[in-house]
Amino acid sequence: MATDEARQRPLLMLDVDGPLNPFAARRPRRPRGYRTHRMLPPSYVARREAAGREAHPLRVRLKAAHGERLLGLGYDLVWATTWGAEANEYIGPLLGLPRLPVVEWGEKIVPELDGLLFKTRHVVAWAAGRPFAWVDDALTAKERRFVGTHHPGPALLHHVDPRHGLREDDFAALARWAEEHTHA
Ligand SMILES: [Mg+2]
Repeated sequence: MATDEARQRPLLMLDVDGPLNPFAARRPRRPRGYRTHRMLPPSYVARREAAGREAHPLRVRLKAAHGERLLGLGYDLVWATTWGAEANEYIGPLLGLPRLPVVEWGEKIVPELDGLLFKTRHVVAWAAGRPFAWVDDALTAKERRFVGTHHPGPALLHHVDPRHGLREDDFAALARWAEEHTHA
């Protein structure tokens, strides 16, 4: 349970593929400081098997220093990724992050009929009115509109380019927003 003190900090909803794993980086421009890992998380293997396909290890590039940067931003961190609870097993330890709460998606990991990112309703429900920043490579005007009308508190939807992952400008913007939305 969050303490009263922790409740005063905004949440940071964290995507993995895109912000932490710059999957769209091209080899000549692979971001510096990243290590490449090969992973076979059980839920991915199960999905591939259900589709009658072989599961090849996923290539995941991570920058170990990002864990400490994220912890220092002034947020309560929450996984908001298709990795689900597996982020705590496969991603967090490589970044030096403690186990984090996880936004669950239920069965539906497909775009909604109106084209809204499937995560959006769940993220808003999970935040339950608390100020939150959301870091993801799939944010568009649709998600901004939905959050604007369904979330009563402040929110920062921060798009990250999946060719680069989180960069200094992103950390600076997130730190600034946390400072503005942390209340005694
Ligand atoms: Mg992503």
